[in-house]
Amino acid sequence: MTAPIVIVGAGQAAASFITRQVALGCDRPLLLIGDESHPPYQRPPLSKKYLLGELERERLFIRPLEWYDEQGIILRLDTRIDAIDCDQQQVLTADGESITYDKLLLCTGSSARRLPETIGGTLDGVFTLRSIADIDRFGPEFQAGRRLLIVGGGFIGLEAAAAARKLGLDVTLLEMADRILQRVAAVETSDYFRALHRGQGVDVRESARLTRLLGEDGSVRGAELESGEIIAADLVLVGIGGIPNMELAQAAGLDCDNGIRVNDICQTSDPHIYAAGDCAGFVRNDLPIRLESVQNAADQGDLVARHIAGQDVRYTSVPWFWSDQYDCKLQIVGLNQGYNQTVLRPGSSESSCSIWYYRDNQLLAIDAINEPKSYAFGRKIIEAGKNPAQQVVADPATDLKALAMG
Ligand SMILES: Cc1cc2nc3c(=O)[nH]c(=O)nc-3n(C[C@H](O)[C@H](O)[C@H](O)COP(=O)(O)OP(=O)(O)OC[C@H]3O[C@@H](n4cnc5c(N)ncnc54)[C@H](O)[C@@H]3O)c2cc1C
Repeated sequence: MTAPIVIVGAGQAAASFITRQVALGCDRPLLLIGDESHPPYQRPPLSKKYLLGELERERLFIRPLEWYDEQGIILRLDTRIDAIDCDQQQVLTADGESITYDKLLLCTGSSARRLPETIGGTLDGVFTLRSIADIDRFGPEFQAGRRLLIVGGGFIGLEAAAAARKLGLDVTLLEMADRILQRVAAVETSDYFRALHRGQGVDVRESARLTRLLGEDGSVRGAELESGEIIAADLVLVGIGGIPNMELAQAAGLDCDNGIRVNDICQTSDPHIYAAGDCAGFVRNDLPIRLESVQNAADQGDLVARHIAGQDVRYTSVPWFWSDQYDCKLQIVGLNQGYNQTVLRPGSSESSCSIWYYRDNQLLAIDAINEPKSYAFGRKIIEAGKNPAQQVVADPATDLKALAMG
């Protein structure tokens, strides 16, 4: 019997790979192994509608559980892979079972970075937000009137702050950098979201360095800042970034850096092994990058399926991303790495605008805030490799549709 294509990690990239394999009518056996209890699901609603209780669990699932069976795909949940033997082309489960693969796809995602135990990171009432199981743990604690401290002013922290305010919690958000979203966005975008959150009653603290979390009887009670200030809290959500799950690959001797190194067909340093999604690092415009986004996971999973089916494909997708906070939608296209100029384009209403990122007059990326048209046309402009001058973009009279289509 032919050995199966084994996919480790049952998330977004895996679902995309399998969907494409099925669509292409590939008849190779597929074995999907995941350490969670659920079939592949979408994570974005976890910090948005699902956290608010506005979406049923089943609606998170990318395909219903029965679908895998119907397609003849073997889905093994609650199963962790602990090792890869590249020479034997086998993976080893935590229970000691060896499974032979013809090809292996690593879709192991990323994990939430935690605060160390030495500063209170393991106290009861301290949570991270990455999975359905995380929400099962802390969701019941999200009750009106409780004091929530969020550590980290990135997208997950900000989205959780928005959900918590909607649910009536008192929210303080700490960011150690001098502005929220500093790692991912320009000053203009940070300014917009700071004002949005403060307007909704979130106590946003920037340049606020946490010294330690304070506990009582094993449960978190607050936090001490470097300034000496004490902030009382009933629960703490830590949103300080993700770490690629690459231990398996590292232990197997695959090239890893910030992620499992892949080439433009998502192949690792072992030609029988591919990696896709949050766990994969690759080079774009001569710079090493790793993306944590649905677009990247879905497109890379899809690409591996096409490549294995014999199509001549290369990973060149233009990245895009979104974030929903209150009634505000941020849409991002392109990569702003290395930008040295920004242009603020006024939007069609007071609460909308777009920020255009340039490096040495070359357009790199756009943040569109409540501006779906700017996003849609901007995306076309970037995908077509067009480079409108900054003064043209800054002029609200400029017709973006004409620029995109012209
Ligand atoms: C709260 C939250 C909100 C987000 N919001 C957005 C958003 O608005 N827009 C956006 O574009 N992106 C968003 N993202 C990011 C997006 O969800 C991820 O980039 C995407 O899920 C990555 O897909 P993946 O397949 O690489 O990993 P995942 O979907 O994380 O799947 C990886 C799976 O592998 C499993 N696994 C790991 N190691 C092993 C092992 N050894 N054995 C077996 N199984 C293993 C993991 O448990 C997990 O189930 C959000 C993420 C989170 C957590």
